Amino acid sequence: MRFRAAILGFCLAASAAWADPQKAAQLRDAALADGTAWSVLESLTTEIGPRPAGGPAAARARDWGVAKLTALGFANVQVEAFPKKAWLRDAEAGEVVSPFPHKLALLGLGNGIPTPPEGITAQVVVFDTLEALKAAPSSCCTGKIVLVNQPMTRTQSADGYANAVRARSAAPLASARGAVAYLVRSISTSTARSPHTGAMQPWKAGERAIPAAALGVPDADLIAHMAAREPVTIHLSLQSDVSDTTAWTVSGDIPGSEPKTGTIVIGGHLDSWDSGTGAIDDGAGIAITVAAARLVAATPHRRTIRVVMWGSEETGGSGAAYLAAHKNELGAIAIAGESDVGADNVYGLQLPAGAWDAADIAPLEAVLAPLKIMARRTPPEDGGADLEDIHGAGVPVFALNQDASRYFDYHHSQDDTLAIVDPGQLRQNVAAWAATLSILADTSFDFRKTKK
Ligand code: ZN
Ligand code: ZN
Repeated sequence: MRFRAAILGFCLAASAAWADPQKAAQLRDAALADGTAWSVLESLTTEIGPRPAGGPAAARARDWGVAKLTALGFANVQVEAFPKKAWLRDAEAGEVVSPFPHKLALLGLGNGIPTPPEGITAQVVVFDTLEALKAAPSSCCTGKIVLVNQPMTRTQSADGYANAVRARSAAPLASARGAVAYLVRSISTSTARSPHTGAMQPWKAGERAIPAAALGVPDADLIAHMAAREPVTIHLSLQSDVSDTTAWTVSGDIPGSEPKTGTIVIGGHLDSWDSGTGAIDDGAGIAITVAAARLVAATPHRRTIRVVMWGSEETGGSGAAYLAAHKNELGAIAIAGESDVGADNVYGLQLPAGAWDAADIAPLEAVLAPLKIMARRTPPEDGGADLEDIHGAGVPVFALNQDASRYFDYHHSQDDTLAIVDPGQLRQNVAAWAATLSILADTSFDFRKTKK
């Protein structure tokens, strides 16, 4: 009897240890004093720097990822190659020719087409909003360069961006109205002159492709001021190259004690734009998730945590490639989340429907409270761009919402560097992820069980 009681006692103690808020709180506190994320981010931005998919730095980034995960003790470190139609920038320039000559700060948009070698010279038609372009007649812009100069609203969530970014893919609307090139005010909340690039949707069959670029915010306003006085003529020369090449997604595991309970897939994207060093987009996402998973590795936990460095988010492809490579094992992914809104504080955690009501998840709210993170009862619409495809195929996602108020001052510009990362906020992110992962790795809640 005594022996049986002892066994029972052990079992109770062990089961009480699963999804343990105390363990999560300890991980939270350990993360607030942990420098791993900063050192990973400093290493990536210093040793690799800008790393667009398909460019020469992407292969160095792949090797960096393998070496870093291995050095930090991750198991099962893997490289998944996938075909990539790479878009790479070449020489770009633009200027106002008349009435008031001015050299423009601009960056071509990813997936765009080049101008002829001699460039394009044409008059500008300025639209204050995307809706104004949509409402314009089909004859409005024949032979002209269209500029959409719609400001972006600064918001704590990424909603301001989601709304404004539609203008970055509006070149087909300008083309359908006869335009010879498309310019967009940078999708940015800053007033700095640095232009913010980004991908546009690739041109579809039947559309007449025209060159497209983003202007620095003050330059877009300047053109609008000039155009209010007299006709403005611009010269644009945008060169770029497209090639069939290879991209890579790198991953490593923190093995759990009960792998049959499913894997948690987390990470960020390893590729970046070419103008900055990709510190907030998305070196930070990689640094945060690597550091958090490594902290959880030091504690007992049931599920395996897989950290993924997706290889082509910016110009597209790594989410679809991940689905293609793992479509037969999606059922083994318990839940997934991506960190891809920079390095500023997390303010909310969204879980699949019903999860916050689970007895062994509910205490996470109190663990996150000292970090000023809300338990948000609205399930996430998505878990990050690289997860869209597997989420669409049924994998549940969670979202640690980051404060985006500052993010779009720097995002996709030359100012996306380590200098704008706040080490304290970076550690707050790691604390949020480590505590959350600890609970998600141990909970008995089935995230596929939807509660209406
Ligand atoms: Zn990103
Ligand atoms: Zn980005």
